[in-house]
Amino acid sequence: MKPIEVFHANKQNFYDELFELLRIPSITKNNEDVEVAAKWLKKILNQNANYVEIIQTKGNPVVLAEWKPQIQQKDTPTILFYGHYDVQPPEPLDKWNSPPFEPEIREGRIYARGVGDNKGQFYAHYCAIKCLHEVNELGLAVKFIFDGEEELGSFHLEEAMNARRKFFEDVDLIIVSDGPADPSWKPTLEFGARGIQTVRIELQSADSDVHSGNFGGIQPNPTWDLLAILQSMKDENGKCLIEGFYDDVFVPTEAALKAAKELNRDPETYKKQLGISYFGEEQDQPLTHKVMFRPTLNIRGFKSGEIRENAKTIIPSEAVVEMDVRMVPNQTPEKIETLILAHLDKLRSQSERMAQVLDRCKISFGASFHPLFTPLELPWTDILAEAIKEGFEQEPVKLPLAGGSLPLYSLYKVTEKPIYIIPYAQPDEANHAPNENMMVEWFEKGVKTSIKLLQKLGKIDLSS
Ligand SMILES: [Zn+2]
Repeated sequence: MKPIEVFHANKQNFYDELFELLRIPSITKNNEDVEVAAKWLKKILNQNANYVEIIQTKGNPVVLAEWKPQIQQKDTPTILFYGHYDVQPPEPLDKWNSPPFEPEIREGRIYARGVGDNKGQFYAHYCAIKCLHEVNELGLAVKFIFDGEEELGSFHLEEAMNARRKFFEDVDLIIVSDGPADPSWKPTLEFGARGIQTVRIELQSADSDVHSGNFGGIQPNPTWDLLAILQSMKDENGKCLIEGFYDDVFVPTEAALKAAKELNRDPETYKKQLGISYFGEEQDQPLTHKVMFRPTLNIRGFKSGEIRENAKTIIPSEAVVEMDVRMVPNQTPEKIETLILAHLDKLRSQSERMAQVLDRCKISFGASFHPLFTPLELPWTDILAEAIKEGFEQEPVKLPLAGGSLPLYSLYKVTEKPIYIIPYAQPDEANHAPNENMMVEWFEKGVKTSIKLLQKLGKIDLSS
């Protein structure tokens, strides 16, 4: 029997098993349910893996598994798969057409919280391993790391990996299947992702909100002052004015530029899709660069006073802004933090008034992910693209950098090996939203791709 035939012959069992996992409500903040999912994984993996371990952390556990090669004539590579078994909260529940933790298949799609993000995607890899294992054809060492708190920011992933450094020593490449495929609905091979650093500035300029007539002209309005700070950070053409902001921005390689161009992103499609009539951020950058090669400074929220039905004629006492910087390769959260603080210091030195304002500002930095980029020129690219092409029966698009941010940097920091993202969920998987789903067709093509991938990698001789 061929490995893919093993899958088709046992399909019902595979779906039953996946549905068991989907029924565990491993919402990332519910530690007990996440723990149940970790134990479930251990039980399932123990059926065929040579090594399984649950690593406890200060947060949710990390699960490791390893399969030794069954046939190995050559110095084959060791592959590491990454997946996360925690999920987003399902709310708002009334928007779901079927309960989020009672998976069901409707019109060719599996509906359940966490099916695309990320249980169904990593389970496709597991199916492939199991099918090859069943027919004794696993030709290379396969390792798996299951993260239990990706949705929170994977705070303890690196700590857990460092506690088992030896496990990761022989890894040659890392495959992550997460996020949706390219909006063109073509199978997708991604070479990295932008990073993220968030920052909050809170300005409390008085003890309380007051009557804007009685105290107008006396109590300072924090909104004007916070706006002045924000205004100093961007010019009218969308350029960030924070000194050094663009200094470390990587120069895309020839191959990355070529791949970006081949994506054929169309400005008019974006305008129609988003209902916009002009573009944000750097006006002098071509669309392909704006989409993935340039960093952004975004205001994700601004709050002060009340409007609409809650409107009051007051001078608010507080204004708060939250921003995120989407970083591109070579930029680091640490450096961005330093640059923002230096910018505020510079403002402080420019006027007494601004110094008084900044004295009352509280600045805090939140969760961050480093950006990560794997050069397209490495020999793995062709092997992976070929496996995807055979699995999906379609040429994949090559996306140099994915839009969202992933905990890729921790994986890279411990292994220093190339990381690739191959999303198995279709573009409208509705991850983080009600009615999250994964198309059966995409799941099964994912299984096929993983089988092809393991077969092709199992034929490589690293010593030659
Ligand atoms: Zn997610």
